[in-house]
This record gives sequence, structure tokens and C-alpha cells, in this order.
Amino acid sequence: MYDFLLSPKDIEIRNKVKKFVKERVPADLLKKMDRDEIQYPREYVVNLAKENLIGLRFPPKWGGQGLGWTAEVAALEEIGPLGMSLGCLYSLPSICGEALNVFGNDDQKTRFLKPTLEGKKFTAEALTEPRGGSDFFGATTKAVKDGTDFLLTGQKRFVVGAEGADYFILYARTGDTSTPSKDAITLFIVDKDKGVETKYLYKLLGTRGGGAGRLMLNKVRVPKENVIGKVGDGGKIFYQMMIPERMTSAAGILGGARAALDVAAEYSTKRKQFGQHINEFQAVSFKIADSIMLLDAARAIVYMAARAIDTGQPGSICRRLVSEAKRFSTEKAWDIVNMAMQVTGGIGYTQVYPIEKILRDARLSMIWTGTSEIMNLIIQHEFYKELGERKAKKDERDIEKDALEDANEEKVFDDDMLLK
Ligand SMILES: Cc1cc2nc3c(=O)[nH]c(=O)nc-3n(C[C@H](O)[C@H](O)[C@H](O)COP(=O)(O)OP(=O)(O)OC[C@H]3O[C@@H](n4cnc5c(N)ncnc54)[C@H](O)[C@@H]3O)c2cc1C
Repeated sequence: MYDFLLSPKDIEIRNKVKKFVKERVPADLLKKMDRDEIQYPREYVVNLAKENLIGLRFPPKWGGQGLGWTAEVAALEEIGPLGMSLGCLYSLPSICGEALNVFGNDDQKTRFLKPTLEGKKFTAEALTEPRGGSDFFGATTKAVKDGTDFLLTGQKRFVVGAEGADYFILYARTGDTSTPSKDAITLFIVDKDKGVETKYLYKLLGTRGGGAGRLMLNKVRVPKENVIGKVGDGGKIFYQMMIPERMTSAAGILGGARAALDVAAEYSTKRKQFGQHINEFQAVSFKIADSIMLLDAARAIVYMAARAIDTGQPGSICRRLVSEAKRFSTEKAWDIVNMAMQVTGGIGYTQVYPIEKILRDARLSMIWTGTSEIMNLIIQHEFYKELGERKAKKDERDIEKDALEDANEEKVFDDDMLLK
């Protein structure tokens, strides 16, 4: 239906993912994950890799397909109905792979990116610490130089794949108090078997089965060959990684919302009350209409962000659009899933239908990979900057002059103006 947004190759990939989702992922796997009986379904990632479906954007030399974000968004929407944990495990090679592909050297790409895209190594991103996730530059995990190696000490929290990953893309502080924040953090590739302790701790509301846990590092030795980019480049790399982090969240949840909408819409054509199908009540069918419209609007903004990145628009535009896409898509998905639950009534609140699971999953999408509040910080920051730049050019109509009253003396902005 949305093929007009996609290239023929994007459509081919989307169809392949759709087939994979239908045929290769047993319902039993999803149920076991949701019951916390499985902590990390390696088989799923291996099978995706065998079909060459992960890391679509990376060069074929490293195991990708050299495609753009539109292909990945289309693929992610198909993965979405599997739930956020499987969506996240699909996305981690794309997120961690971004750091390796853009900032890593060939040796790191050979040792880590290629085997990850081949499903031979499993990766996870370790950014959040018990002390906080939003304040990236406040990280306290320390990396201290020891000869040519680094010794890493600290804790990371909520790392999806803590149980199951072979290596972590992990941020640690290398600067001291005199180092400007933007240069104080370095990104490391940390092999789990080099002494990283993990704990599968959390009783999550949803998004279970992805192995989300705590990492504990006590002088874990990391060779200098595992520094991504240069020492102090962590901040710069973080800004780049925010694109795949947020785009994957924004795109994946489209599929979750679509799944809930489909279940509810179908239910409304079968369920009868007061002698008629409930979709014949406008109060019900208009919820479906609202959901369809919101889903399309979310899809539109996600594809707009994808096109902005694929066509190489300036970083500030991409940052704003990606943040808007992440916030809008996740918040509207939440509304859609809630409407689906309303349409299905009491049975929607039970485990007879999967809407309650989608709802439990969807709540996290507004929190992880940057909260809605952090998205707002970026959106307004980039817009004010852009507005200033536009106004400085003085090539736009002065809209204020169209006001009916030409009363500049009434434009009072602060006390100082009154005193003049
Ligand atoms: C199941 C799960 C999986 C996760 N997976 C990963 C993972 O794989 N890797 C990883 O590194 N992290 C992961 N996270 C962490 C996630 O990204 C963080 O929880 C998230 O970024 C928020 O950080 P926090 O929990 O420390 O909340 P805080 O940063 O403490 O924020 C608390 C509240 O304060 C608000 N706030 C904070 N700062 C500001 C501000 N400046 N202005 C306005 N409001 C503000 C926030 O929006 C939020 O509402 C995961 C989390 C969960 C629950």
C-alpha cells in the first residue's frame, strides 16, 4: 500500500522481511520471551543474518546491502508486530554497527561489524548508567590508561543483550575535570569474556526476553585497538549513533501500532452489541479512523526523516526530524494501542488478545533511546537555531508588518524597554 514511498529494492527487502516474520518466528518464541523464560533468542538473529536481513545500510563488503534508511524503516515496520524486544535485537546491529561503520577502522570492521552482520557475533549498546541515561555527558564509568591498554571500571544499566551479547559498544570517561565535556568520553568495544559481569535483574513491564541487564566492570582491560575513533571522540560518535537509535525506535513501533489497530478493527467487525456490529457505532469506527490517520502521520514523519538522512541533509535538520519522528511515532503509537484496547473492551485487557502485550511494550518506546522530553530539547534547540539563521538572511517576508495595528511601541519584551 505504501510502495510508492519505496524503491523496487526497498520493496523486495520489505517483502522478504514480511515473509520471515510470518514464517520463521514461532508464536511460542514470543510467548516464552514475554514469560521471561528466554533471555536472549540468538537463533532469531542468526536466522535473520542467514537471510542477509540485518545491517541493511552497511556496505556489502562488511555484510550489509548498501541500502538507505527507507529500506530499513520498511523492514522495521514489518518486524514491529513481533514486539519491541525482537525489534531491538533486529536494530542493535544497525545501532552499534553505525559506530563501527562510520568511525571504526578496517580491523574493527573485520573483527566486529562483519561477524555481527553474519550472525556470528552478538552486540549490545551500553550507554545508560544507574546514575542516569538522559545526561550522556555525565557518564561516570571510567577508563584509565594502563600502558597501551585501558582499565574500565563502573556500571551500566538496562543494557538489552547484557545476557547474550559477545561484545558491548560502551562509553566511558577518559577525560579529567579539566577536559571539556564534549571531549571527555571515549567509545570502546568491550569483549564480554574479558571480565564484564552481567546481571539479569529487572522485572520489566513489557519488552521482555531481550536480556536487558546490568553490566559491572571492575578494571576490565581493553586494548587500544578497541577504541572507536580517537580517545575523546565519544561525544561526536554519540550524536551519530542517536540517528539509528531513534530511527529504529520510531520505525519499529509503527509495526506494533499497526498490529494493534488490525486486531481491533477486525474485532469490531465481528463483535455485536445492541444487535449490531460495534464498528457500526460511530464512537467505535471513529476511533479506528483516528488511529489510521495517526499511524499514517507517524509513518509520514518517519519516512521524511529517513529521506532527510538518505539525501544527506544537514545534521541539524536530520537531528530535528529524527527527534520529531521518534517522539511523534512513539507517542501516537501509544494512543493507537490504547484506542485498540478501548475498541476491544474488557477482552482487550486480557491475554486472550495480544493488545495488552503490545501496550506493555509500547510504553517503553517513549522512554528508551532518549525520552520524549529529551526529544523536545533537541527539537526546540534546532528550531531556534534554524529560525535565527533564517531571520539573519533577511530574505523572507516580514510577517509582523501584516498585523492590523502598526504599534511598535506596544511590543514590550522586558523592563529595560519600559525604562528607556
Ligand atoms: C527495558 C529497557 C531497555 C533499555 N535498553 C538500553 C540499552 O540497550 N542500552 C542503553 O544504554 N540504555 C538502555 N535503556 C535505558 C534508557 O535509554 C534510559 O532509561 C532512558 O534514556 C532514560 O534514562 P533514565 O532511565 O536514567 O531516566 P532519567 O535520565 O533519570 O530521566 C528521568 C526523567 O527526567 C526527564 N529528564 C531528564 N533530563 C531532562 C532534561 N534535561 N529536561 C527535561 N526532562 C528531563 C526524563 O525525560 C525522564 O522523564 C533501556 C531502558 C529500559 C527500561
